[in-house]
Amino acid sequence: MKFNISAGHNPDGKIACGTVNNTLNMKESTEARYQTKKVVEYLKADGNNANNCTVDNGTGQTDVLNKLKTKHNAHSVDWNVSIHFNDTDKEDLKGNEKNIGVEVWYFDNKKKPARREECRKKAELVCENLSKIGFTNRHAKPTTGLRFLKDTVDKAILIEVCFCSDADDVKLYKSNRDNIARAIADALEGKKYVKRDNKMDKVIAYVGDIDKVAATILNWKLKDYSLKDANSLKGKEINNLIVVGGGAANLLQGAKEKIVGKDRFETVKKVSEYIDKI
Ligand SMILES: [Zn+2]
Repeated sequence: MKFNISAGHNPDGKIACGTVNNTLNMKESTEARYQTKKVVEYLKADGNNANNCTVDNGTGQTDVLNKLKTKHNAHSVDWNVSIHFNDTDKEDLKGNEKNIGVEVWYFDNKKKPARREECRKKAELVCENLSKIGFTNRHAKPTTGLRFLKDTVDKAILIEVCFCSDADDVKLYKSNRDNIARAIADALEGKKYVKRDNKMDKVIAYVGDIDKVAATILNWKLKDYSLKDANSLKGKEINNLIVVGGGAANLLQGAKEKIVGKDRFETVKKVSEYIDKI
């Protein structure tokens, strides 16, 4: 599928940069950019075409919206997505164990009821996925008032992830930043969110095409192991990890089994010696 994703507003520190809550150290613009980058990464990793259409150089709010319109309409896509964070006058800076939660807006297009319904469903799925992380579901909301939704030629939704001015929202957000991006990406792909398991078993890790050759040879012998680029394994708990080559050994220093030669030839030689011993 094809997606255009953008963060709302200008970057922090510039004019028109969105909501900031200094007490809770929460900046809409910065977090919207973080989420946008992550969601694009996840969508691409799953084989989708995803463009980051964020605008960082608007001269004011109207100019940001004009530039977003141009960028979003430059590629035709299945979905246009704008990521924001919400604000309220009823601040809760201490926390009361209740977050205010997530809402997602879609264009109340009375002339195109089928398209309106598709947008409502997509908005509702984003809400549902984020509610699985713990956010109160404020549900999909129709509007004719948001320029982003009026400006985009292809279908669009505008996500208000949670509230910058509520300590419970911010706490839940900060401890789940990547899960939230994953849950949004899942919804955009039409899937319900399930938390990914951080544990893996039986992995051969390498970095780069050269060490991949040696790692692949080892994988011929250890067929029930999976072959992974070490860059994708940061933060994972792995049982039975074998690291092949210096690059992977550097990245995954905790690994017990390392097959590292002084150059590519010696690494291959050490792999074949290792295979002989199995
Ligand atoms: Zn906003």
